[in-house]
Amino acid sequence: MSATTPALPTRVRHLIVGAGFAGVGAAIKLAEIGEDDFLVVEKGNDVGGTWRDNTYPGAACDVPSQLYSFSFARNDWSRSFSAQPEIFAYLQRVAAESGTLDRFVFDTAVTEAAWDDTAGEWVVDTTAGQVRATNLITGSGGLSEPKLPDIDGIDGFDGEIFHSARWNHDIDLTGKRVAVIGTGASAIQIVPQVQKVAAHLDVYQRTAPWILPRHDRTYSTIERLALKHVPGLQRAYRSAIYFGRETYVPGFTRFPQLTAPAKRLAESNIRRGITDPELRAQVTPDFQIGCKRILISNEYYPALDADNTDLVTDRITKITPGAVVTEDGTEREIDVLIVATGFHTTDQPIAHHIRGRDGRSLAEHWSETGMASYKGTCIAGFPNLFQLVGPNTGLGHSSMVFVIESQLAYIIDAVRTQRQAGWPAVEPRPEVQDAWNADLQRRMQSTVWSAGGCASWYLDDHGRNTTLWPRTTISLRRLLANFDSDKYVITERTAR
Ligand code: NAP
Repeated sequence: MSATTPALPTRVRHLIVGAGFAGVGAAIKLAEIGEDDFLVVEKGNDVGGTWRDNTYPGAACDVPSQLYSFSFARNDWSRSFSAQPEIFAYLQRVAAESGTLDRFVFDTAVTEAAWDDTAGEWVVDTTAGQVRATNLITGSGGLSEPKLPDIDGIDGFDGEIFHSARWNHDIDLTGKRVAVIGTGASAIQIVPQVQKVAAHLDVYQRTAPWILPRHDRTYSTIERLALKHVPGLQRAYRSAIYFGRETYVPGFTRFPQLTAPAKRLAESNIRRGITDPELRAQVTPDFQIGCKRILISNEYYPALDADNTDLVTDRITKITPGAVVTEDGTEREIDVLIVATGFHTTDQPIAHHIRGRDGRSLAEHWSETGMASYKGTCIAGFPNLFQLVGPNTGLGHSSMVFVIESQLAYIIDAVRTQRQAGWPAVEPRPEVQDAWNADLQRRMQSTVWSAGGCASWYLDDHGRNTTLWPRTTISLRRLLANFDSDKYVITERTAR
């Protein structure tokens, strides 16, 4: 990003961590209410978050484009499901046009953020120096830290190896022997692209995912003109898609029988894409659809069915300098190893760097209970901390941009309330937070994510689902519409 990087101030009112959808949105919304004294600290060299980092071939959104923009900054999307470059360009444009980029600092990581109870502010150490801030707003992303597989010998691999979110564009895969470990959302987009150019491709599947057809198409010029210029059309189209996606929720949360048509569609997707009966059986999941994220692709199954691809379902036992070895003793030689093994989701790295009122980190608090917060946003014992995309705000069916905007409404109302009342600090009451989480976990029991017969990144080491929102996003938006200060411990002004 070519924006001039400001010198780090010693003090700001709001420090925002991360410049993805969450951080950019927070900057825009704070500026809108005249809270201009903020700084955005971003460890990467540009805005974009996950859409800056995930540049692998085939990277695209599996949420319809129309839902993947801020409601206050619509976009002239070129197709129904957008690819990474278009989403990244959108976020760059929105940030540039917002007039807030002068308060973004790039290539700067937060190393420690500690609440100073005497001063009533956050003391934040970054790789570029220290900043004090009244409010700390984190938007560091739930899918930002690659998770590498713990496989014997992987460090000794002599060929090229990289994670899906850290794609090495210097490596030409043409004519190479390539292995992809993983069959999640990233892998199923990567595999068809690699299959087209590689001499041979091995895909290592631990668990087969459910995959629906991808109804992607380019918008015609007339459609784009109409969406841009006909008053209310884009809003109506977006609403129709939004409410259509909300109808998935009852099937996920309470009435699993409603997912039967989706399962049939996924089964027919297998039949359409794969001719070999044995391969069809290998890719057919043995758990309820929706238990893991439902994926969409028209290209993945044909790529597996291609002559130069082998699907390997035997467990990997070790990696040698030149091959992957499976439990049946087979050694498959490769030149390049792509690990598409996901992200740290329930053990978020930033949690180790944020210390609350008692000096303990969020990670230490959460090691006992699992990730927990109030309304996915505020955390008892961590005054003036606002977390975007916090615990239990993830979705399996709709757009995280909607969630982020819902949370921003809540945070902005909190900031406004704080300002008007002159409250130096707010934090949720512990008993309120406990009740919130007890209710969430009670609702989780009946969901497909808990009872669907699979292991997924939605669940933590205690088997609790601390990542997903178990209700409609309509209810999430309603619950986050206003800052409910009666649920908070308020620190009154004291002489400093
Ligand atoms: P993921 O869904 O967590 O998938 C990781 C894959 O790696 C799984 O197939 C997993 O198998 C496998 N795996 C992990 N460790 C392994 C090991 N030690 N040995 C063998 N296999 C191993 O990660 P992801 O595909 O990067 O996607 C993460 C999330 O990012 C998605 O759920 C989605 O929310 C988001 N995403 C979205 C898009 C999009 O289109 N918008 C695209 C990419 C990613 P198991 O299933 O057995 O654990």
